[in-house]
Amino acid sequence: MHPETLAIRSTMLEDHNFGAVVPPLYLTTTFERNPDGSVRPYVYSRAEAPNRHLLEKSLALLEGGAVAYAFASGQAATFAVLQALGAGTHVIAPDDAYYGSLVLMQDTLADWGLEVSRVNMTDPANVKRAIQPNTKLIWVETPSNPRLQVTDIAAMAQIAHEIGAICAVDNTWATPILQSPLALGADIVMHSTTKYLSGHSDVLGGALILREQGTWASKIHAIQKVGGAVPSPFDCWLVARGIRTLPLRVKAQTESAMKLATFLHEHPAIEVVHYPGLSSHPGHLVASQQMRLFGAMLSVQVKGGETEALAVTSRLKLFTHATSLGGVESLVEHRRSSEGPTSQSPANLLRISVGLEHIADLIEDWAQALL
Ligand SMILES: *Cc1c(COP(=O)(O)O)cnc(C)c1O
Repeated sequence: MHPETLAIRSTMLEDHNFGAVVPPLYLTTTFERNPDGSVRPYVYSRAEAPNRHLLEKSLALLEGGAVAYAFASGQAATFAVLQALGAGTHVIAPDDAYYGSLVLMQDTLADWGLEVSRVNMTDPANVKRAIQPNTKLIWVETPSNPRLQVTDIAAMAQIAHEIGAICAVDNTWATPILQSPLALGADIVMHSTTKYLSGHSDVLGGALILREQGTWASKIHAIQKVGGAVPSPFDCWLVARGIRTLPLRVKAQTESAMKLATFLHEHPAIEVVHYPGLSSHPGHLVASQQMRLFGAMLSVQVKGGETEALAVTSRLKLFTHATSLGGVESLVEHRRSSEGPTSQSPANLLRISVGLEHIADLIEDWAQALL
């Protein structure tokens, strides 16, 4: 089945009580046993619950994985991968990546003996050089946050497998519609479902999808159900509802992003546009090979430094200055000030999440905001 069909049909549930077309919301923490004392499929909702199960099945199908586990946030999903590594291991991570993932690796888990090497993954040679005897994970994020660097997923998976490590890909920005890391050899896909999958900026969630059943799946499953960082039934219901329109939203938002990137690329007030859809982008070729389209996220560096970048955010009317991304509404964010004093984002960088408003209005807004 095509993604458009899967997105809708995989999030429906046959309702034997009333024939509801939309899946009922099962707000129950516990489930009655059979008369003979045996348990039914569901026992207690931390371990497994109907709305979560439906969401997980849908995510596994969309990413082409064997199994999926849903979490209370993207960070909880990333944390589960890192916890599954065990103490004293080494991770190779991108120098440009979601700030929270890097904080988990470098700060939160440092006391547990996690070692991290951050390298520029656009060149696989840098990754090979960073390998240590205890390297167990290559963590990839492509396109990356906030500089839209593109990493060759197949190359990363190959390097990982040569040393008996695993390759996990944060696929939040590309979504399963535009990029399929498991088909390229990755072992785990991570999502912040808070973003495009839910698509309406009203629910937090995360997920891990694994290519195979096995040791890693068992460990992650245990961390999910025993650790308990699980999403509520309503959270799962909302994400599943978002998934139904995911293919259409992502395609329309990507089309607009390409037009906005082209407009900004030609604008004299802009120093540089980071968007892998532009042929001038250093990762354009790799992105063309591993992505179906180039996505709806871009960053720009504004001439005039931080002061001017912040002034642009206040002049924009249709791009709300707020963090997060992937919703129907367009957002702009000065990354450096939201990441705080240890941020490595350029001072004049603005990250843009292109929404579903009409592209002519969005371009006009940037035209009036850039002096
Ligand atoms: C938002 C985001 C995360 C973290 O997800 P939360 O749901 O906020 O915990 C991780 N990676 C990327 C690329 C993100 O955009």
